[in-house]
Amino acid sequence: MYDIVISGAGPAGSKCAEILAKAGYKVALIEKDIKWRKPCGGGITYKVFNLCPELKKLNLPRINGITMYSADFHKLDFKLESSRYGAVIDRLELDDLLRNTAIDAGAQLFDKNLSYNFISKDGNYIGIKTRTPEGIKEYHGKIIVIADGVSSKLALRSGLRHRWKVDDLGMGKCAIMEGKHQLDNEFIYTFFMPYNGYGWIFPMGNKRFNIGVTTFNEANLQCNINTLYHEFLANPNTKKYITGTDYKIIWEGSFPYPVGGILEKSLYSDNLMLVGDNGGFVSPISGEGIPSSIKSGKIAAETAIDALHEEDYSKNVLKKYKTHSEIKYIIRSFKLKLSMLKFFYENNGRNFNRMLELTEENPEFKVHTVNLFVSKTMPPKNFIARIKDIR
Ligand SMILES: Cc1cc2nc3c(=O)[nH]c(=O)nc-3n(C[C@H](O)[C@H](O)[C@H](O)COP(=O)(O)OP(=O)(O)OC[C@H]3O[C@@H](n4cnc5c(N)ncnc54)[C@H](O)[C@@H]3O)c2cc1C
Repeated sequence: MYDIVISGAGPAGSKCAEILAKAGYKVALIEKDIKWRKPCGGGITYKVFNLCPELKKLNLPRINGITMYSADFHKLDFKLESSRYGAVIDRLELDDLLRNTAIDAGAQLFDKNLSYNFISKDGNYIGIKTRTPEGIKEYHGKIIVIADGVSSKLALRSGLRHRWKVDDLGMGKCAIMEGKHQLDNEFIYTFFMPYNGYGWIFPMGNKRFNIGVTTFNEANLQCNINTLYHEFLANPNTKKYITGTDYKIIWEGSFPYPVGGILEKSLYSDNLMLVGDNGGFVSPISGEGIPSSIKSGKIAAETAIDALHEEDYSKNVLKKYKTHSEIKYIIRSFKLKLSMLKFFYENNGRNFNRMLELTEENPEFKVHTVNLFVSKTMPPKNFIARIKDIR
């Protein structure tokens, strides 16, 4: 019998496991395949370094700035404050490091275990069942944390949430490529599109980069992600940075992610918590999900520690996860981002184009725009009116 059974050893599940194991609890961390490389841009910010200080040991090259293009090629370059640096990481390396940190803290990792159903008793979930190469296995626990990502079977079986609708999702296709590039190694590059979506190129040192495109909401149905991906690779603006003709593809993949904000009503029930992508912890504008997923895993762990201490695993205690001030802050800030996202794309991206055009004309407006992406500061009341040119 474990204190906690966690399905999914991605960033959210591993952080949750680490904190519980460090507090002395018996943790089973269940993973379908530790060799699987999650399709991802691998862009991480200072928030991830703060949550996972062990990352500093990797000495990743620092990202200190962002270049953004609008669909009509207005350009916004900005340098980050030195304390807000980021990096680009291969997801195999990130996930390995976070899992190993959890194992070092005392969590037991069970690889090649695909969780597919609950074990129930008297109407409560008391464990999970997994398929393994050796057959079906069962893991019993007092609390179950579902951290197995956007396509979780357990989340659906729990009844906590429904299957995603296509327009609640983003769809991304990306690759890690090797070969010479003309990117500034300290900058990441994003290219906003006239439809709900954007492309990115993130340098990984002199000879590697992560490149990809994403669509979200209704654009998932209107566009074919493979076609967009190949168009993006051939786009003259992309070609300015990726000038070679023969890049080695180290890895390529596509995957969905949630973009509709946090599933506030689906985060917990008796004996159960949902963390990470599974609960919608991905920023609606940028698709940045690593920091908020890790944060959700951390706060779920702290909630579970309280519940284990009180020997009460009911939703009355587990609701502290959702009502935690940091989760409430993420919920609020994603709602704001969602409304900005709708505004940017309401007229085929023209609002976004105009916003970047204004940043070229007006340094003060540039500061407000940059803050919208990197800080908690809200833009002034007339920000949207200026983009719409309402006087
Ligand atoms: C194309 C793309 C690009 C992205 N780029 C960025 C970016 O640059 N920066 C950023 O911050 N975020 C990015 N994101 C979002 C980010 O990848 C996620 O928000 C983050 O990985 C969520 O972490 P998680 O632990 O919740 O889920 P995941 O990372 O999806 O981890 C889930 C884990 O559960 C395991 N699993 C799944 N099913 C089962 C099962 N049935 N049984 C057992 N184990 C299972 C998986 O193997 C995996 O290890 C991107 C997403 C996509 C799709």
